[in-house]
Amino acid sequence: MTKDLTSLLPEELEAIFQELGQPRYRAEQLFTWFARGEFSYAAMANLPGALREQLVQEFPSVPLRCLNKQVSAHDGTIKYLWELADGNAVETVVMRYRHGNTVCISSQVGCRQGCAFCASTIGGLVRNLTAGEMLQEVLASERDSGLPLSNIVLMGIGEPLDNYDNVLRFLRLVSHPKGRNLGMRHISLSTCGLTEQFDRLASEGLQLTLSVSLHAPDDETRSRIMPANRGRGVAALMAACGDYAKRTGRRISFEYAMIRDVNDTDRHARLLAQRVRPVGGHVNLIPLNHVEERDFLPSTPQRIRRFVEILEHAGVNVTVRRKLGGDVDASCGQLRRKREQAAGARNS
Ligand code: SAH
Repeated sequence: MTKDLTSLLPEELEAIFQELGQPRYRAEQLFTWFARGEFSYAAMANLPGALREQLVQEFPSVPLRCLNKQVSAHDGTIKYLWELADGNAVETVVMRYRHGNTVCISSQVGCRQGCAFCASTIGGLVRNLTAGEMLQEVLASERDSGLPLSNIVLMGIGEPLDNYDNVLRFLRLVSHPKGRNLGMRHISLSTCGLTEQFDRLASEGLQLTLSVSLHAPDDETRSRIMPANRGRGVAALMAACGDYAKRTGRRISFEYAMIRDVNDTDRHARLLAQRVRPVGGHVNLIPLNHVEERDFLPSTPQRIRRFVEILEHAGVNVTVRRKLGGDVDASCGQLRRKREQAAGARNS
């Protein structure tokens, strides 16, 4: 029997409460507390004291602890570093857009995908997050910030499709009508392109938005900066995207980090247009966030403008993402990295 009640759906909680000899409605009460961001049994006033005590003993729940919180002076972006029960840490970012407040959550502690420009993968993968931990990222951020969150993006630390089962469970938890009830249409899942999972994801019948981190239209460039491309390839990725879009009726969003002299030439833009057009979907250009440990630099504003021009001329739907939180270590992985480096320095 799992000890992690925050990862369970109401019907699964019911089974546990039944074993404890409790009425079924206790399951819904507990689920509702979690959905409101309350993870401490002691505060759950409508549960009898003896039951609360029993839960503390048998199902210890350790709410996320805030290790660091930075608020951008420019745009109000909030970046949290949360400590998990086992001492690991993950980052969550709350961004304030006109269309609503968006939370960007992590799906793993670290990452094994090895993208050459990304801070999250430098120390490799430590472990998967549980569904309950991802739920807590959303709810603890919502509670602490006081900002009602209307959108979730799985674009923080980790590769969501490398933690498939827990991510799916998280999606079911956060969208549950008796829980936080956040609609799937307001959730985006970003992947480096683990195409072997696309079929399965399409078959789940979810209305979420699939974001694909493309970052290069040719195998030579893409395999150089994204090891996940090796053995898969851009052509196969685009074919899988086409299938996914057709089966789900959902438009795919392609992420493209503009890296100076690496993936930002006219040739790249033209090839990108050729690749994207048959699939449809939308290209989101992101000026690279410079990461201390990496040599890559962002493309110049002129280069980005030229890139946009070529794509638009070719009939591709393109936007340049507004950079938020530039003053708060905004690209994910950087806060956690700093904490690890500090710990490393203390231990050596
Ligand atoms: N593993 C998933 C989701 C996490 S990263 C994925 O690869 O999509 C979320 C997005 O940020 C991805 O598009 C990723 O490629 C991008 N990213 C990582 N490091 C970046 C950096 N330094 N600058 C800009 N974008 C970056």
